[in-house]
This record gives sequence, structure tokens and C-alpha cells, in this order.
Amino acid sequence: MPDFPPADPRAPAPQDVEGVMMRWMQPLVVDGDVHACPTCGAYRDWIVFCLRDDSVWLRCRAGHQVQEPRLNAAWFNRNSGPVDHWHPTLEDGLRHLGH
Ligand SMILES: [Zn+2]
Repeated sequence: MPDFPPADPRAPAPQDVEGVMMRWMQPLVVDGDVHACPTCGAYRDWIVFCLRDDSVWLRCRAGHQVQEPRLNAAWFNRNSGPVDHWHPTLEDGLRHLGH
């Protein structure tokens, strides 16, 4: 096994990391399950973030954010279409997408 440096124990949060995002209006199906917000139960109208570290985060209309480990940058790229630009901050991207 290669000797990787220890992972950063602090999970990256979307507001710390530059990334791309898209709006996802329809129910989001992951591995055959409709993803619902664990906090409020919303299942449509997501903002989907893909961060530089290859993680994908979902934000519901109420602003709850969770990482979805079954999704990654490859999934995002297959589903997002052309990415228009990177957003320097979460707030910038949310404004851009109208959330
Ligand atoms: Zn929610």
C-alpha cells in the first residue's frame, strides 16, 4: 500500500472549498432511492455542489447541506451538462442559481 499522508480529520464544508454547482429541480434518485433531506424531508429542488476534492453535497431549499457519499465528480459531470463557471463562494453560487 502506498504511504499516504494522514487525511485531514476536518471534513471540508462547501463554504470552505471552491466548486461547481447546479440546480436540480426533479427528485434526485441515488442507487434507486429518492434522496430526501434528513432534516426536513424535502426531495426536490436541490442545489448540488461538486467540490474540488471530488465530494458531492446536496442542499435543500431550506438550506440544509449534507454530503452524499454515493455521488462524486464523475456523476456530477454526467448529469450537469457544461459547467458555466466556478463560484468563488457558496453564496455567489446560490445567488447565481436563484436559491
Ligand atoms: Zn432540508
